[in-house]
Amino acid sequence: VNVDCVFCKIAEGRMPATRVYEDADVLAFLDIGPIVKGHVLVVPRAHYDPITSVPPETLARMMRVVQRVAAALVEGLGADGVNLFQANGAAAGQVVPHVHVHVIPRYNDDGHHWNWTSSTYADAEEMQRVADRVAAAVRRG
Ligand SMILES: [Zn+2]
Repeated sequence: VNVDCVFCKIAEGRMPATRVYEDADVLAFLDIGPIVKGHVLVVPRAHYDPITSVPPETLARMMRVVQRVAAALVEGLGADGVNLFQANGAAAGQVVPHVHVHVIPRYNDDGHHWNWTSSTYADAEEMQRVADRVAAAVRRG
């Protein structure tokens, strides 16, 4: 537990949140600044950050809740689609440093657009060099 962490405070009930699911390990509550109404945050009760530090069993439990919430946004709110978003580090746009997954209901007419501008590789060789570096690091685990 990190005493100054907002999500730890929510997990311990020291700060209010509009909860939609909780169990012994995982909590899900509404984001107070939703991209689209019904935007849920799924967090482990224990303080972990970034995602690479989360024990695999805990991450699996989190993702099972993400899956259930995604289904609930479709069945309960009538969402036409669902986005997942997960940020690690300020460079990635993370605001609260307690690992969390955004589960965002999407509607055909919700008007939200991700500012997603595609980049390019100089050539096939550059692309392969990048892939080789990633693949080697994945193998090292
Ligand atoms: Zn925390």
